[in-house]
Amino acid sequence: MEHTTTTAPAPTPALGFPEKLMPIGGVWVPSSTGTTITVSNPATEQPIAEVPSATVQDGLAALDAACSAQDAWAATPARERADILARTYQGIIDRRDEFAALITAEMGKTLPEAQAEVDYGAGFFRWFAESAGRLHLEGQYGLEPGGNYRIAVSKRPVGPALLITPWNFPLAMGARKIAPALAAGCTTVLKPAELTPLTSLLLAQVMEEAGVPAGVVNVITTNDSRGVVGAIMADPRIRKISFTGSTQVGRALLRQAAENVMNTSMELGGNAPLIVFDDADLDQAVDGAIVAKLRNGGQSCVGANRIYLQSGIAEQFTQRFTEKMAATRVGDGAEPGVELGPLVDAKQVASVSALVTDAVAKGATLLTGGTIQEGAGYYYPPTVLTNIPADADIRTEEIFGPVAAIYTFDTEDEAITEANDTPYGLASYVFTQNLSRALRVADAIEAGMTGINRGLVSNPAAPFGGTNQSGLHREGGTEGLDAYQETKYTGIQL
Ligand code: NAP
Repeated sequence: MEHTTTTAPAPTPALGFPEKLMPIGGVWVPSSTGTTITVSNPATEQPIAEVPSATVQDGLAALDAACSAQDAWAATPARERADILARTYQGIIDRRDEFAALITAEMGKTLPEAQAEVDYGAGFFRWFAESAGRLHLEGQYGLEPGGNYRIAVSKRPVGPALLITPWNFPLAMGARKIAPALAAGCTTVLKPAELTPLTSLLLAQVMEEAGVPAGVVNVITTNDSRGVVGAIMADPRIRKISFTGSTQVGRALLRQAAENVMNTSMELGGNAPLIVFDDADLDQAVDGAIVAKLRNGGQSCVGANRIYLQSGIAEQFTQRFTEKMAATRVGDGAEPGVELGPLVDAKQVASVSALVTDAVAKGATLLTGGTIQEGAGYYYPPTVLTNIPADADIRTEEIFGPVAAIYTFDTEDEAITEANDTPYGLASYVFTQNLSRALRVADAIEAGMTGINRGLVSNPAAPFGGTNQSGLHREGGTEGLDAYQETKYTGIQL
């Protein structure tokens, strides 16, 4: 591994919004107690900015604002809502560099990856702006089968929505929720992760400039997620929760949502298999595996967690893949040429490191990486493990770091059985040049998404989400809008 040494920390990027304040009801306000959270750069461990630490009182003020704005927003013509989303798309693209610098500074991913996230995140505003305009034209009107009366079916917004996002994609995770919520006519309270709240605040500023009315997008930053979210969810006025994060927290929120029978969307953890057959194009497979493994420093719910190689290509693939992993340039994501930034915090380094240490102690072979370097920044090197024993924790846990766990198999059935041996079912990847096999295996894998000969599947126009314990419902695509709508049936006697 080549680890760049930074001579001087990258300058702190401009915030683009008022520091120590958060937008509630169209006004930027401090926390009711005046307390703040310090946000730090994981590459340098240096503070970047302070944001308010919202209290329960602030959370309920945000809910009040969203509820007050709900009826007027739902009654705003769909075309007007679409125009605001389109202007938000343009506003993000116009400030692409500013967004990317902020994402890199608070989360650690490299600048090119942050730029890609800005394009991906902005894409949700464009996609749902396009969908919003024709929203109210969709529905049904017809005679019931007995011929006695008419059936009319239309859609309406579900109501004020609570949106909770993780730290790994500070723009895209919020964009994927806010854009369809607003398109459908729902007002929102967004609670970003404590580690990466800055990008959400910049997004709120851009949305304000795009003409979002007061109270439609409220952002609360807090170090008391449990307390603040719990208080909002206990209020029957909130009608929707859309959560992206760990399965463990998702489960707890589902229990809370049951109390008021809230509409829920859950985007939870993953344990994606990536299967390479003997007949794969090896260059394509190695490159695809590198993308699926190292994207976002491996801190992605769709990251390749388990790499299964058919025995005929296993040795050759492993050698080429390991060479690429070992040659990856690690350093501050803001520096040109760096290919892998730091992990998000010390806790993440400890958790990734513990999985590698456990596997090696139980007999796994370490082909590269595995050693944490001294110095500032939460770095973990690209690491490759093979010969992983059956009792190693890495076999079942989400790695969330740049560590590749390689396994081998002989038959297609064996690969499918191994791939499905998990309670998760988010993403999966298959590399083969045999079209029948590709489609057969994709159908047999229990996962919400499968990439065939690609290591990257996320797209605003496609439904993103998982089966089993990876979640409920989808984001993006046409399904993304359904998540914020209810069906209304009217029986009409003429
Ligand atoms: P996390 O710990 O579950 O946190 C996610 C969000 O929930 C954060 O905003 C967090 O706030 C908040 N939160 C934590 N505990 C809470 C509680 N008791 N009540 C209410 N809110 C609470 O997950 P993470 O570590 O940030 O993200 C990594 C996980 O997200 C991984 O499992 C990954 O697979 C998953 N993920 C899934 C998708 C998908 O689309 N399926 C996408 C990205 C990530 P704080 O920051 O204040 O703790």
